[in-house]
Amino acid sequence: MMPSKNSRLLPQDYYLFGAILLLLLLVALACWFMSRHWIHQRILAQLDELHQQSTLAATTASQDLQRDTRQIQHMAQALTTLSTTRHFLKNNGNRGALQADLDKFGAAFELNGIWLAGPQGEVLLRSPALQPLPSFLQAIPIPQRFRRLVLDPELKQATYYYAAPIEIEGTTVASLLLSASVNGFSRPGFRTELLVTDHEGIISMADNPTWLLHSLNEAHLSYRPRPSAEPGPPLFPISRSPLLPEVLLLGPQQSPIVLASHGMDESGYQVHALADAQHIYHLAQEQDRWATIISLATTGSLWGGLLTLLTLKRNRRHRLAFSRANNELVRLNQQLKQLATTDALTLCPNRRAAEARLQYELANLQRYHHPFCIVMVDIDHFKHINDQHGHDIGDKVLRHFAHTGRQAIRETDVLARIGGEEFLLILPETEHQQGLQLARRLLDTISATPLYLADRTISISFSGGLTEARKTDGTNDLLVRADRALYQAKEKGRCRICSEHPLQDQSAAVG
Ligand code: GH3
Ligand code: MG
Ligand code: MG
Repeated sequence: MMPSKNSRLLPQDYYLFGAILLLLLLVALACWFMSRHWIHQRILAQLDELHQQSTLAATTASQDLQRDTRQIQHMAQALTTLSTTRHFLKNNGNRGALQADLDKFGAAFELNGIWLAGPQGEVLLRSPALQPLPSFLQAIPIPQRFRRLVLDPELKQATYYYAAPIEIEGTTVASLLLSASVNGFSRPGFRTELLVTDHEGIISMADNPTWLLHSLNEAHLSYRPRPSAEPGPPLFPISRSPLLPEVLLLGPQQSPIVLASHGMDESGYQVHALADAQHIYHLAQEQDRWATIISLATTGSLWGGLLTLLTLKRNRRHRLAFSRANNELVRLNQQLKQLATTDALTLCPNRRAAEARLQYELANLQRYHHPFCIVMVDIDHFKHINDQHGHDIGDKVLRHFAHTGRQAIRETDVLARIGGEEFLLILPETEHQQGLQLARRLLDTISATPLYLADRTISISFSGGLTEARKTDGTNDLLVRADRALYQAKEKGRCRICSEHPLQDQSAAVG
């Protein structure tokens, strides 16, 4: 099994993870944008098709109306030049003959009515004889020139009213008004609603009679409706969609439609075809909803990702700073420990370290019966060296002694400086006899290795007091015994090792 430390995720793993997530998000966004573009193109194409269909409907209906109204206009022209008409007007002639002619004419061409009006618009003659005037003309005299296309709400039939003046010898003496139904609009096979507006933009014909006499003009297709206080005919309730400007929203239900208009002739009449755009508008609304959801989600994800990255980065910075501070603390601790246990001049362990080591070796001896020896070492006549060569050279001698001594002993042995020119040699795993040999070898080495300076050579020797540790010893007992042995070595003439041993007196001088 892997150690748990190795399975921990590192900050760079999080960065990689974040980068992959970001990449996936970007790919998803790119796909979404492409599909959105494709759907938008589809919407535009369908709108275009719908617009073409409604234009066709408006054009066809407009042509039908135009053909019918022209026919009526031609009939009116013909009647104004009819001889019986002119004779009646000129000589106040045969009224019965004109009535008969007009009745016949009206019946033959399926006219709703014919009215002959005098110069003041008063009705002189009507056909059929009792045919009432249309309601909008009952209150006013019949104008000499006039055209109007209206939808008769009762008959559900478009009716065209046309008045033409009758001139005799350059003077307008009367006018002739004709009323005729026009055929229904032509309808291609799709859902459209048709409206006809007059020159003022007022709806005069509509499939849906509730729209009649409403006002429809370009100004009404803006987003801002006319203030309701403004006088005039009621507005046709239509507005442009903010979502799809090509689509208009109709009525209180806001039904989406596409509108196409076609002008009929110089009369100012216009035919408008309103095609149902419900399915296209629904598609655009769906797309808009998804766009909102996706942009919110994307913005949220990006912010989340950014915050995560920033947090990770900040955590990493903190971790690094913490680890740097910790390393520094460990280093300083080690330095402190070394300073506390090392002699600065000779770099040997100091008295404190030597005592600690002694306690450790004593414990080892008591528990595991591992023997060890110590040698108290004191440089001979060191005061004399100081006096003769100076204190600085004395320090050099101390350093030289420590250096040579360290090289002469085993790696497991310890040479500690415990006083001015006093050292303690600790020899683990060493019995008395072996320790004596070791100490003598060290004395030989030191005696044979003088300090060579530029202008002089300084020979060194030392006296050593050796003792082997006993299980009952404390640190102090050991040191006291070694000190006694050292005293003996000094007493016996220096440059020798004496041992404090109960059985034998082991002292030997070198040289
Ligand atoms: P003996 O052979 O009996 O040991 O004679 P000795 O001169 O070595 O002994 P003593 O105790 O009389 O003198 C020790 C001298 O060591 C005295 C002191 O000035 C000198 N000393 C102690 N510490 C240092 C040190 O760090 N540097 C130097 N240069 N001298 C030191
Ligand atoms: Mg001394
Ligand atoms: Mg000395």
